[in-house]
Amino acid sequence: MKPFILLDPGHGDIINGVYQTAGKRSPLWSNGSQLFEGEFNRAITQGISQALTLHNIENKIIVPEREDISLRIRASRANYLATQYPDHHCLLISVHANAGGGKGFEIYTSRGQTSSDIVADHIAHAFTQVFPQKPLRSDYSDGDSDKERGFYMLRKTRMAAVLTENFFMDNESECCLILMSPTGRQKIIDYHVKGILEWVQQIARNEI
Ligand SMILES: [Zn+2]
Repeated sequence: MKPFILLDPGHGDIINGVYQTAGKRSPLWSNGSQLFEGEFNRAITQGISQALTLHNIENKIIVPEREDISLRIRASRANYLATQYPDHHCLLISVHANAGGGKGFEIYTSRGQTSSDIVADHIAHAFTQVFPQKPLRSDYSDGDSDKERGFYMLRKTRMAAVLTENFFMDNESECCLILMSPTGRQKIIDYHVKGILEWVQQIARNEI
């Protein structure tokens, strides 16, 4: 079966200078810069989409709008699109930046052992290759590297689904040196794409 990747940029963007999502931004740093998470999430999903297209992998950004589309509509869009690609392996990736104090990368799947765990392991492994010095915040209690939570997009979508929390926007060095820098953003795109490509190769070998 062929893969079909659904990309979900979390939250809203900036429209005419107005950020569409309450909160979900970095502090205003001393150099006057500030990160708005929805802008970052869109930049990363667009980069992933471009790279997948260059690898001939079908993909779609499920929120092309700049408005903050509700989780209910996002999930129903993903489920509808999956019905349009019945003979495909569908995978949803929700992209976010973390906050609340900490550092590094987290990846979440729906609860229990599902096909989502396989792709989560690939992306987590790719993260450690691209950012060998940065922490992968893992929960190995169930034998794999993802953290399992009941996030809406993971619970309500009927396909393999993962949610990535890419560094901490309230950590000044991670925010300014990685999340707000073109090279940092490219590396974040790269580990998503590397992980997806590993999963796609497994599909091609009929292993999943
Ligand atoms: Zn978020």
